Amino acid sequence: MVNRTMVKIDEEKCTGCGKCIAPCAEGAIELVDGKAKVVSEELCDGMGFCIGVCPVGAITVEQRQALEFNPEKAEAQPKKTDSSIQCFKCGCGEDNAYLLPVRHGMESLWVCTRCLPQLIHG
Ligand code: SF4
Repeated sequence: MVNRTMVKIDEEKCTGCGKCIAPCAEGAIELVDGKAKVVSEELCDGMGFCIGVCPVGAITVEQRQALEFNPEKAEAQPKKTDSSIQCFKCGCGEDNAYLLPVRHGMESLWVCTRCLPQLIHG
């Protein structure tokens, strides 16, 4: 066990929408009984890429004792896709471009790397 940053999911706030599952490249999050859970400490790298996609603010990070992140185990996880993930500006999906989660206009959205500069610079 080591002291490190881990994703923390507030079950009271979680609606079970599942939007945080595909963005976790390590496959650390799954829905269990209708709530998102970090299913293995070894799979969570604590980067928090899932935080920005949660529409209800149920995900944060915390410092705590946990098993060390296992990059080999994470790499071996099947990658999950979500066809509902699209750039809110041009509509392209993750098959066509890199997508990043953004907070914009009080919403959690996705933007592709082609549209991001326009979003930043206007
Ligand atoms: S995105 Fe938020 S509300 Fe949706 S399943 Fe994940 S933690 Fe729950």
